[in-house]
Parts: sequence; structure tokens; C-alpha cells
Amino acid sequence: MQPIHVIGGGLAGSEAAWQIANRDVPVVLHEMRPNQATAVHKTDGLAELVCSNSFRSDDHEHNAVGLLHEEMRRLGSLVMRAGDANQVPAGGALAVDRDGFSQTVTEALASHPLVDIDRGEITVLPPPSWDSVIVATGPLTSAALVAAIGAVTGENALAFFDAIAPIVHRESIDMSVAWFQSRYDDVGPGGTGADYINCPLDKAQYEAFVDALLAGDRVSFHEWETSTPYFDGCLPIEVMAERGRETLRFGPMKPVGLTDPHRSSIKPYAVVQLRQDNRLGTLFNMVGFQTKLRHAEQVRIFRMIPGLERAEFARLGGLHRNTFLNSPKLLDRTLRLKTMPRLRFAGQITGCEGYVESAAIGLFAGRFAAAERRGVEPHLPPLTTAHGALLAHITGGHVETIDAGPRSFQPMNINFGLFPPLEKSPGRGADGQRLRGAAKAMAKRRALTARALRDLDSWTRGCAAAETAQPAPLVPAAQATPSLEPHPR
Ligand SMILES: Cc1cc2nc3c(=O)[nH]c(=O)nc-3n(C[C@H](O)[C@H](O)[C@H](O)COP(=O)(O)OP(=O)(O)OC[C@H]3O[C@@H](n4cnc5c(N)ncnc54)[C@H](O)[C@@H]3O)c2cc1C
Repeated sequence: MQPIHVIGGGLAGSEAAWQIANRDVPVVLHEMRPNQATAVHKTDGLAELVCSNSFRSDDHEHNAVGLLHEEMRRLGSLVMRAGDANQVPAGGALAVDRDGFSQTVTEALASHPLVDIDRGEITVLPPPSWDSVIVATGPLTSAALVAAIGAVTGENALAFFDAIAPIVHRESIDMSVAWFQSRYDDVGPGGTGADYINCPLDKAQYEAFVDALLAGDRVSFHEWETSTPYFDGCLPIEVMAERGRETLRFGPMKPVGLTDPHRSSIKPYAVVQLRQDNRLGTLFNMVGFQTKLRHAEQVRIFRMIPGLERAEFARLGGLHRNTFLNSPKLLDRTLRLKTMPRLRFAGQITGCEGYVESAAIGLFAGRFAAAERRGVEPHLPPLTTAHGALLAHITGGHVETIDAGPRSFQPMNINFGLFPPLEKSPGRGADGQRLRGAAKAMAKRRALTARALRDLDSWTRGCAAAETAQPAPLVPAAQATPSLEPHPR
């Protein structure tokens, strides 16, 4: 059987390769590191996490990304298996030891008999003899390949910025000022209720900190960067501060759900949280503190934070360009380039945002490609599932602008806004009382997530037989017809 080629051994490419190989289809995974570096990757490991070590909330009942985790686990995800195996305490979030995580993924793929890892940059469009290719080269796709893709898509790739938050050595944090506590003492699945380090600021300290951020020296933009928007979920803190002096207090520096044990009678005016970054617990990253301040300025300004006066930084923040396609226009429902169906795209380059979302799209790109190769109809997941909602957002969730304004398609994290509404909203609680406010919102989330998992399980049962048990005639990728509707239950 001809192999499927996956370009890019990041979150999406690694997951795609795993899904393909586990369907008895050979796969060649092309990764350019260490021969060719990106601006942010530091190692030659597969599935390297370039910034935060968090997969975000692991609450599959009330949180959309937690639901995505659970669906991926049920679909045999390598990324989730490696994430669970390398978990570090982070309250309700799933955070991982980044090196252990990457090593687990690398070893699983390197030891798989059907996976061939080829270390080399793909600089041109793959040759026609590669009849099924998944491009999963991420937000930092190498320049040569961006140009080659641009030539076939006939479009300029869209671009925006993503920023990295600093990492601090734990031993350099003054714990006579800071304290361990998770917000609202949330224990979560892998935490203790005291997983974050908290640094409190009073009003005067907060005001001085905001002044310093506003006056701080920043990395200047190149000309091509000036018209590029930020991803709203990852704004640099100095940009947040520019939006209003209180913005940070309602964002990453919010003081709610935390009590300073050193001064329990005084409510902090603002709090900086740091989350464990490695299994040893020696590194902590500053939550939500992505920044484009110059490195020397970061050290000076962040040392104004009580508890971080002597902070030593293992990594400072930074800002990088991020490339993605206008996928709703360019890709079909199974992520193939409409004008060249032997090319399929996965991960952040398709316009999803986040480690987990990238891996989830890789998971389905791998399933689709393997099904085609085996002559089995690729089935789309139900729209009511997190995977179905995310795929629909990427491949069809947007309309072109009707005037000459900017295109509306922007990368997006999974969120409940992407799900089809419930047929009937929960009206009353178990006690028969009418639900209102937060209780109603939580009940609605529970109904959405229960529906998603129920539909996923029944879809899996329905298509598993078709995808695994049929004989495997070789059908060229371009000829296979994907089903455009979710598999019937
Ligand atoms: C600076 C920055 C910070 C981010 N921070 C976060 C964060 O904190 N949390 C979060 O959830 N998401 C974050 N993201 C967003 C995104 O989720 C991650 O970048 C994620 O890793 C994307 O997964 P991917 O598989 O699409 O790409 P990647 O994980 O980047 O994998 C792409 C791989 O392709 C390789 N490659 C590139 N070009 C070629 C080529 N021509 N030939 C062969 N190999 C190639 C690269 O070396 C890389 O290994 C960040 C993104 C950026 C750019």
C-alpha cells in the first residue's frame, strides 16, 4: 500500500500519523527540525509545545475544550494519551510536563512499525506520486512551503500574531509574599486545590505596574506586521493595558477566588498567577502574560510584581507571526484542497487555534486520509460533537464578506458558540425549581456536552464497522467521495 505523507510533526501531524498507522496504512512523517528551525521551537521532539504547557480545562461536562479532550480520548488520540501520562498539577486544567509529553509522542511514533519519520524540510509542492498528503506545518510553516502553498491556493495566506508568556524558576519566587492556591480551591482532575503560585498587588502597586507596561519599550513592528490583527484570546498584556487601566484586573490579573494567607484580612487588588510548567515543579509560567516588551524591559517590569523581585527567567516572552488559510473557501468538508484534493490540511494552518484543537483536526485529517486509502467512505462526526462543531467552523462556518471589508474567518478555539443549539433548553432543575442565571447556563452546558458524548458514541459504533472491517481496495484519494453529512445514528 502506498504511504500517506504527513508534512509537519507538530500536534496535528503527530496525531494524524498515529491515526493513519493505527488503521494499518503506512505513513511517512516529514519533520524539518532539527535540520531547519522555526522561530519558537527549541527541540527536535515531535509535538513540541511552543508556549504554555496547558491543554486548558479538563472539565468535560461544563467546558468545550474539556469536552474535546474527552472526545479525543474516546477516539484513541495519541496526544491525549501522552498528555494524561505526563500530567502536572494545574487545578481544573490539564497541564503537562512539556518534555515528557513530547518524548512520549516521539517514542510512540518512532516505534510504530508503519511510521517512517523523515527529518527534512519540504520546500516545494509534493510530487504527484505522493497521491495523499496531509500538510500540518502549523503557524510557523517554513517560508518556502508558504510560497508553494500560496501558489496553488491562489490566495495570500492570512496572518495574525501570537505571543509567548515568560517562564520563571520556582526557587527565585519569594514565597513569603506569594502563596500556592488554585482559584476557588478548585481541585480538578489532577490537582490539589493549591496548584498555582499567586503574587498579590495592592492598588498602588497595580497602578505603578500598569504605568510601567504602558511606558515599556517594545519590539517594533516590521512593515508587513502593521496591519496584522492579534488573536483576541492571546493579547499581549501591554496591549490589554492600553485598552483600559482596569482591563488586566478583569483579565489575567483578576483577584477573585483567592485569599492571601500572609495577609488574610486584606483582599489583593490584583493577582498574578503562575502555573507549574514541568513535572519537577521547578519552572512556572506567568499565566496570560504573553508580551512583546523587549527582553530587558520584561525583566525590569515583571520584577516589580511582589514575590518576583528576584525572579530568574527560564524563558522570556515574545511575539510571532502566525499563518493560516482561508479554509472555508479553500477546503472541502474532509479538509482537502478543493483545487488539488490529494492535498489535505490539518492543525493550526486550517484556522483552528490551540494545541488541543490542532491535534483534534489532525485526528480527523488522519482518519479521513486513512479511510480514503482503504477505500472506505470517510464519515464526518456529528455537528453536535466538539469535533463536528470545530470541523464545521473551519470548513463551512463562515460566509465571505459581502462588501470589500476584511474576511471574517479568524482562527478560533473550540467554544459552545460553535455548537448547534439544544432542541429544548433546560427549564427546571432536579428540585423542580425554575433555573436562572448561572445555574441555567451550567445546566445548558451539561445538556450540550451530554448530547455530544451520546452522539459521538453512537456515531463511533455506526462507522467503526465500516472503517475497520471492510476489505481495503486501493482508491486514489481524488476519486473517493466523502459523505457530506454526519453518519446516521
Ligand atoms: C508563538 C506561538 C505561541 C503559541 N502559544 C500557544 C499556547 O500557549 N497554547 C495553545 O494552545 N496554543 C498556542 N499556540 C497556537 C497553536 O496551537 C500551536 O502553535 C500548535 O502547536 C499548532 O499545532 P500544529 O500541529 O498546527 O503546528 P506545530 O505544532 O507548530 O507543528 C508544525 C510542525 O511542522 C514543522 N514544519 C514547518 N514547516 C515545515 C516544512 N516545510 N517541512 C517539514 N516540517 C515543517 C515544524 O517544525 C513543526 O514541528 C501558539 C502559537 C504560536 C505561533
